[in-house]
Amino acid sequence: MGKGADTYRHKGLRAKLVDELRKKGISDERVLDAMLQVPRHLFFDKTFEPWAYKDNAFPIDCEQTISQPYTVAFQTSLLDVHPGDKILEIGLGSGYQACVLAAMGAKVYSLERHRPLYLSTTARLGQMGVRGVRTFYGDGFRGLPSFAPFDKILVTAAAPEIPKELVRQLREGGILVIPVTRGAFQQMIRLFKTSDGKWLEEQHGEFRFVPMLEGTE
Ligand code: SAH
Repeated sequence: MGKGADTYRHKGLRAKLVDELRKKGISDERVLDAMLQVPRHLFFDKTFEPWAYKDNAFPIDCEQTISQPYTVAFQTSLLDVHPGDKILEIGLGSGYQACVLAAMGAKVYSLERHRPLYLSTTARLGQMGVRGVRTFYGDGFRGLPSFAPFDKILVTAAAPEIPKELVRQLREGGILVIPVTRGAFQQMIRLFKTSDGKWLEEQHGEFRFVPMLEGTE
């Protein structure tokens, strides 16, 4: 994965983090393997490097957060990623989640509504020599119609409800994973699109995310 210091010490810390995730119930070896590969510390300001391999969420630019590793692992497992999958991510943020998907062989299209974050993360992924991630500046509620349909769609911010436009941009048989605000908490929803206009929904527990907001800034 290109430039930047990734040492044996960092690899050791990642192996410990992956063990921790396994103990917490993550069992998809493809997900764990990808998280073993992606150097999470390179997505943080150098000052905060010591926190990079703890199982915690962490603040990034524009008052956003890089999701907790457990949450990344959980959402990625629900998505059932296969090499070659064409995946739309809503909420590029630091780019870490997008890189985990790319490490699993997916072709990732990731949208971010904060221009400074879109620019800095796009530059970082370029410096790291990441392949398989294309970044876009725009509003996730609109998706990326010109690239649809997608095999999978992953939303990494809490939506007020399931955006119909995203379901529309999913292929038949595709999967959408999205945290949706239900009352006082956010419920992780996995949606299977069965045919045009029809889908099945599963609930996968409560999580905490920054809100999915309309428009760009
Ligand atoms: N996947 C990211 C997590 C970032 S937090 C990572 O691995 O670091 C969620 C991100 O979603 C934030 O960067 C936020 O700005 C972005 N976001 C929120 N609403 C959005 C929308 N409507 N469209 C695109 N991005 C959005």
